[in-house]
Amino acid sequence: MLSARQAVQRMHEYHPPLAGREGLRLDFNENTEGCSPRVLARMREITADDLARYPERQPVEGAVAARLGLAADQVLLTNGVDEGIHLLCESYLEPSDEVMVVTPTFSMYEIFAEATGARVVRVQCGEDLRFPFDRIMAGITAATRLIAVASPNNPTGSVASREQLLKIADRAATAALLVDEAYFDFHGRTVIADVATQHNLFVARTFSKAYGLAGLRAGILAGPREQMPMVRRVSSPYSVNVVALLALPTALADAEYIASYVAQVRSGRARLEEELRKAGIAWWPSDANFVLMRIGERHREFVVAMRQRGILVRDRSADPGCDGCVRITIGTTEQTDRLLSVFHRVVAELNLGAEVKA
Ligand code: PMP
Repeated sequence: MLSARQAVQRMHEYHPPLAGREGLRLDFNENTEGCSPRVLARMREITADDLARYPERQPVEGAVAARLGLAADQVLLTNGVDEGIHLLCESYLEPSDEVMVVTPTFSMYEIFAEATGARVVRVQCGEDLRFPFDRIMAGITAATRLIAVASPNNPTGSVASREQLLKIADRAATAALLVDEAYFDFHGRTVIADVATQHNLFVARTFSKAYGLAGLRAGILAGPREQMPMVRRVSSPYSVNVVALLALPTALADAEYIASYVAQVRSGRARLEEELRKAGIAWWPSDANFVLMRIGERHREFVVAMRQRGILVRDRSADPGCDGCVRITIGTTEQTDRLLSVFHRVVAELNLGAEVKA
């Protein structure tokens, strides 16, 4: 009988809760407004001939690299950050290797790592859910081959500093360090230029968040010039489709659109944090387009009550260290107005944050 690799047999299928997402979607950290109108206009110009061809990634790769201040051979366009993670796992991991991930974090590091048969080592954040730098440093062994760090992290919103990341890269000299900057636009700090000098550093970016193109599946993997050919070997030359390739230069060129969206998210985040402070609900400072908060025992009722009022939020209470926690994405200013009024009502109805009010 045909059987899958043992490592795959031990896995479970990952099912993000995508069904029935009717309402204001503050559950997946997407751009809640949609992409730049210029991007949509560019897509409308796509011809049958464009679609009939196999996509040619290289010229767009060069243009994207130039925007990032990198050379073309330091950059690979990917089918989202997800593909970048997959490629690193395929390129570097042997079954005897260890992969270090922070918990809680984005699920796909663990999923792609486990599929290779490598051992996943989870480094738990403390109560403050900050980046567990000391524990990561202490956990690095000769078998550590990949360390995945989302900065800002999902679902916590916390960040790792450049200094910390470079220390990790130095200590783990025979590991690839992946810094996932999916939420870079909301934070503004990056280590992408360090791929030029750090021999084991990779940085991932996405068009799924600030750029509003999650459905297009486009991302960037930047890395050391001498390592990128390894990653290219395991990549399909066509994984970034022609629609994405035609849209990306326009998406990158409309910097004003991104700046305006990011400004709204940042001010919305501050407003939500102020509301949480007043309500006496604990939350964690975030540098991304979402806030993680501790709703407590009634987290399920909270999510249902928000949904009944047309707002989708994400229950993260099953994540390690996130008992009773819910994550809410921040959108435009108008959407934040709506969020805050609904949030206020639901908090009062469910009598949340009562310990401070009492
Ligand atoms: N990295 C992080 C930290 C994320 O939170 C997400 C989306 N939830 C992704 C990567 C996925 O990015 P993409 O859509 O580019 O695959």
